[in-house]
Amino acid sequence: MQNINTVSILEKLISYPTVSKDANIELIYYIADLIKCDRVKPKIIKNEEKTKANLFAYIGPQKSDGIMLSGHTDVVPVDGQNWEKPPFKCTYDNGLFYGRGTADMKGFVASAVNAFIKAKTLNLQKPLYLALSYDEEVGCIGVRSLIDLIKGLKFKPEMCIVGEPTLMSIATGHKGKTALRAECEGVEAHSALAPKGTNAIHLACDLISEIRDLQNEISQNGVKDYDYDIPYTTLHVGRISGGVVLNIVPNYAAVDFEIRNLAEDKPSAILSELKTKISKLLEKVRNKAPNANIKINITNQYPGLNTNINSEIVSFVSSLTGKNKTIKVAFGTEGGLFDEKLAIPTVVCGPGSMDQGHKPDEFVSEDQLILCDQMLETLLHRLS
Ligand SMILES: [Zn+2]
Repeated sequence: MQNINTVSILEKLISYPTVSKDANIELIYYIADLIKCDRVKPKIIKNEEKTKANLFAYIGPQKSDGIMLSGHTDVVPVDGQNWEKPPFKCTYDNGLFYGRGTADMKGFVASAVNAFIKAKTLNLQKPLYLALSYDEEVGCIGVRSLIDLIKGLKFKPEMCIVGEPTLMSIATGHKGKTALRAECEGVEAHSALAPKGTNAIHLACDLISEIRDLQNEISQNGVKDYDYDIPYTTLHVGRISGGVVLNIVPNYAAVDFEIRNLAEDKPSAILSELKTKISKLLEKVRNKAPNANIKINITNQYPGLNTNINSEIVSFVSSLTGKNKTIKVAFGTEGGLFDEKLAIPTVVCGPGSMDQGHKPDEFVSEDQLILCDQMLETLLHRLS
């Protein structure tokens, strides 16, 4: 085998254009080939179409102990972005590695795979786990089957590090996200007789106004966590659609919106408050149009993360990185799901910065990769 290291793995990972809508299976096979041996049998959990997969592997004794290194293998698209460097070729320039996914988060994945390969030469006393997912960028979707697999194991990791980019700081929290679609149903009419119809776009506007009112109430009187840039739960409308032509009163409009909640706020409670407001709104309309309606469906959801800063995972990872300060991050991760669905205490800590994530000429610095390699090297010592 030629010289395998974090950089050579990263170069290979970047060369697979694993945008969430496309396949990642070749990348997964590449990693599985790198790590498999007599003692390591990677499990590949495919999607229905067999185009994408999660990978789960462990090395060391089979007991509920040890650390899981977690990352996603998909990346966001480059369409419409003005890249000077080729996005799907890892380019080194002046201390920085450029390419889509270098920061978010193939840099960490490369370092984790490299550490896993090294672990094969050691006699680990505690297991090391590797959990790689697909379809994270579209709402932590792919990882659900990986979680089911871990649930079924006789033993499970004691702690988890999700290597999303934090400049190697330890992040103990992020907000949860609930994505929703409201379908507004009115009654069509000729626009010359507009008051005879019930305008679905107007209903959508009324709904949006309720969402904004609720946001105001939350920002003024709701729970606050000043570790976040925006210290309260937010509601936001991202897309509206409806109407066919100007001279028809529209009978349908859809509103896509989201709740980004602090761990202290339950999205279900916020949603039920919104539904109460909607019922009042509909009462007024239904005198004239008994079938007018606003139906709300949750289209995707993942929980927030709020790991206690005094927990063992925090002190353990601090002892690996030498950093005591913890942060919270604005972006979501799979960590909330590991914590909620598997009760595995989790922190987020990885190389690079999300300031470069999702942007043209995304990069991770060589220094950051070295720090990550050092953290994982120390981890291997602690597990052996
Ligand atoms: Zn990410």
